[in-house]
Amino acid sequence: MSKIRRAGAENYSIEGTLNDLSDQQRLPNWIFVLLLALYFACNIFVSILARSEGVMQIFGRAVPFDNLPGVFSSLSNACLILLVVFYRKPGFITAMILIMTNLPLLIFTFFVRGNVTAFSGISNGLFTAIASIVIYATGRKSLQYQQRVRTQAMTDILTDLPNKFACTELMSDLIKRDQRFAILSVDIGNFKGINDTMGHEFGDKVLKTLADRWKEFADNNLTETTDFVGRLGGDEFAVIIRGFKTEEDVLQTIKEYKGAFEQRLEIDESDYYMSAFYGYAMYPEDGADYDSMLSFANAAMHEAQRRGLTAPLKFTPDILKDEHLIETERKIRTALDTDNVFPYFQPQYDITHRLRGFEALARMKDSEGNLISPGEFIPVAEKVGLVDKIDSTVFAKAAGLVSDVLRQKDSNFTVSVNISVKHLMKNNFIDETRAIIDKYNIPARNIEIEITESVMIESAEKALERINTLKDMGFKIAIDDFGTGYSSLSYLNNIPSDLLKIDKSFIDVMNDSESSQQYVAMIVSIGHVMKLDVISEGVESQDQIETLRDIGCDYIQGFVWGRPLPYEQALEIALEG
Ligand code: C2E
Ligand code: MG
Ligand code: MG
Repeated sequence: MSKIRRAGAENYSIEGTLNDLSDQQRLPNWIFVLLLALYFACNIFVSILARSEGVMQIFGRAVPFDNLPGVFSSLSNACLILLVVFYRKPGFITAMILIMTNLPLLIFTFFVRGNVTAFSGISNGLFTAIASIVIYATGRKSLQYQQRVRTQAMTDILTDLPNKFACTELMSDLIKRDQRFAILSVDIGNFKGINDTMGHEFGDKVLKTLADRWKEFADNNLTETTDFVGRLGGDEFAVIIRGFKTEEDVLQTIKEYKGAFEQRLEIDESDYYMSAFYGYAMYPEDGADYDSMLSFANAAMHEAQRRGLTAPLKFTPDILKDEHLIETERKIRTALDTDNVFPYFQPQYDITHRLRGFEALARMKDSEGNLISPGEFIPVAEKVGLVDKIDSTVFAKAAGLVSDVLRQKDSNFTVSVNISVKHLMKNNFIDETRAIIDKYNIPARNIEIEITESVMIESAEKALERINTLKDMGFKIAIDDFGTGYSSLSYLNNIPSDLLKIDKSFIDVMNDSESSQQYVAMIVSIGHVMKLDVISEGVESQDQIETLRDIGCDYIQGFVWGRPLPYEQALEIALEG
């Protein structure tokens, strides 16, 4: 396959591309053409006006035509100077050619023809030539300096390769020109181990050797594509690949870089063999901006690393999902190990604003101290089998709150805990629950276990058996998020529950229409027919409280009367209420 190159002799070596990137932006070409046209128009005026004998009125004064050539001649010279200022080298060359062709003509007119008006043209021309040379020479120096500063800012000190900034600049330039490219992200396998055992100096030598090898590879066009190698930082490198026809070509290029890296590395007179992980993403198929292109290639590389795959891995959207899952799983494990999973307690009140109790809602703190919401980590915990650990942690803290309150006063307040269906179905669930109650020495009736209707879909028989046991032990049972699942009245009738929790989504729209309000009223009636108490979740306004009071709802849980609170504040409220 022959090399595919853009028209024009651009330099595709790494150095050349860097220079292109650090070059100053020029004005558009049409301004160049306009200045040239103006220059020629002025010159034509000069020669026409010089021969005219008429007079024109300017601001009430009679000005003979043959006085005007000086004005147009200055204007035409100004055009040349602007060409040099705006277009540097091409402007300077054009200006010089025009001056050099015009001057002999003026000299001939002055000396041979004896036309004295040409004298001002000669002096103007000479002045313009000198000014152009001075402007060009000083401009060139400062431009070279600016270019050097920019090139330095784009170069990695250790390896002399372009750095991450240069890679993103190139990608953004290619995206601007809508050119296809692939970005390959590379991470050296076990580089940390190399650094730890052999020392940082040795690690630096590995990086330098690899960088030199790949730079030579890219600059000598040893692949069929046009490649730009950069160091992203640490032991991470990137190759931006252009000039390919199919993804096969990209893979072939990656294979060649991989092969070059895996060859013997000779450092301090010893031989080493190393491997790396490779992930790549393609523009425009995978992403639309350089930021996502880089993070997609990185995600693919990390996925390859996780799977222990040394073959290049192409980015797919699934990889992001996996990455998020793994990252969240890691956070959950760390948080569980460091006691950073705990509940906040949201108060529940009866319709007259008397405290009923609290719902314990799991919170997780990551290593930076950010609170992560259960909406983010509970689904992951369910997937990776960690939800029972979270449930139990929350359960224990809830039992702790009950115990702290009962030690100070007699109360029938309730603390509700959410139990995932997966956890409920585990064989040791009942024993575990009993152990917590025994440890804190509290009556089960102060704890309410919230389950969702989905429990009946997964394994109705076994679930019912479990719930009955819990009920026999004295726990209260609440049906959470009622109305959002596949509610079946017959199932509901079978569950020995105490409380029906109307989901927030119904409360949100309740006051929007008559029918929405009737729907909530119907749920409250169903609950009451089944001899259950009914609580509305996510109540945010006084209007909603009024409607719920009219409908006959028993309890309220929502930001309007209280947000989820830390343990100490909940304890204070429980002791007051
Ligand atoms: P949920 O059990 O239905 O809990 C009610 C959610 O509604 C809580 O969100 C609560 O903070 C929020 N909420 C209450 N009142 C309002 C309000 O007025 N406005 C708004 N915008 N939101 C309100 P949170 O704490 O984010 O919990 C989300 C879900 O995560 C819970 O829904 C529950 O399904 C699950 N979850 C929480 N803790 C645990 C746990 O320990 N174990 C298990 N398995 N799931 C849990
Ligand atoms: Mg709940
Ligand atoms: Mg709920």
